[in-house]
Amino acid sequence: MKYEDSVDQAAEYARLALPLMTRNGIAANPVNYAVWYAYVSGKSDALREAIDRQLQRRGGLDAEISEQLFLRYIGTCDPGDLERSRADFIRLLNDVAQEVIQTGDSAAEFQRNLDECSNQLGLSNDVKEIRDVVGKIINETQRMGESGGRLKEHLQKTSEEVESLRRDLERIQRQAATDGLSGLYNRRSFDERLNGLMEVAREKGTDLCLVLADIDHFKRVNDSHGHIVGDKVIKFVATTLERQGRGPDVMARFGGEEFAAILPATNLPGARIVAERVRSAVAGATLKKAGSNEPLGKVTVSLGVAVFRPEDDAESLIERADAALYYAKNNGRNQVASENDLGATERKAQL
Ligand code: GH3
Ligand code: MG
Ligand code: MG
Repeated sequence: MKYEDSVDQAAEYARLALPLMTRNGIAANPVNYAVWYAYVSGKSDALREAIDRQLQRRGGLDAEISEQLFLRYIGTCDPGDLERSRADFIRLLNDVAQEVIQTGDSAAEFQRNLDECSNQLGLSNDVKEIRDVVGKIINETQRMGESGGRLKEHLQKTSEEVESLRRDLERIQRQAATDGLSGLYNRRSFDERLNGLMEVAREKGTDLCLVLADIDHFKRVNDSHGHIVGDKVIKFVATTLERQGRGPDVMARFGGEEFAAILPATNLPGARIVAERVRSAVAGATLKKAGSNEPLGKVTVSLGVAVFRPEDDAESLIERADAALYYAKNNGRNQVASENDLGATERKAQL
């Protein structure tokens, strides 16, 4: 709206407008004053009619209505400004629209609403309408922001839940694969690992050895010191075996006081060395009863070593390692034997 009134004229309008505003409880801020100035000066018939209509209503003319009137009848008068702000908004909308990652229905709906707003803005010349559209955009954006926040929160919560489930699962898997007393792999996971590693050795043509170990005269340990001490001896042998292994080796509790070591990429002489290290570490330890100096006496193990052949299944490989172990027992215990040590009779018995 252009104002070309003289000072006197403008002062006269002020004298008319201000009491009216006071009477209607309207603060004389610039927006409100512009509305009432227009009213008393009769610059816009449409505005005058709108205000008269409004004044006849019981609610009268509050600040909000004044502002609406201002936007509708006064603020629309500069087409250049309107065009610029509309273009700015369309640009902004397109920017926002491009930022929206299509991550589900709410984002897609947001995108559609923004497009619709953008179209409305492109068509409208009316500030009030544009203001409504902008209000809609703000609502949409807030809604999306809230839903984005919820989505983020939800995703974060979900990923925390998934993470804790994953940890639980790993723990349960570990527990299921582990022998409670010794902490080594249990028999079930030994079988799984042996089959898997044999498959690898077969495919790649790599070496693989199996060592079986059995505590010598273990019955005597139990008989002399009781099962609890016996269990501790089992634990001690397990720890010793574990310490002699390398990364890919699989150390397992095979049975009561029997152990197994799967040694991938290891040939027979190499496996013998590992087995011998285990034997000497067990034999070299001096075990005492907990809380006393009472010695337990010598604990020793016998070990049997077999090397994988491509035609082997788990059973045949275990049998050869067991035959070598049996051989070591018969040969005096506290020693290592390999399948190569088996005499012709033992080897024949294997066939
Ligand atoms: P050797 O192997 O030298 O021929 O003699 P051994 O006395 O060790 O004989 P054998 O292997 O036949 O006996 C194993 C004993 O180990 C029998 C069983 O009472 C005991 N045993 C098996 N599992 C456990 C266990 O988990 N804890 C305890 N304390 N003893 C066990
Ligand atoms: Mg045994
Ligand atoms: Mg034994």
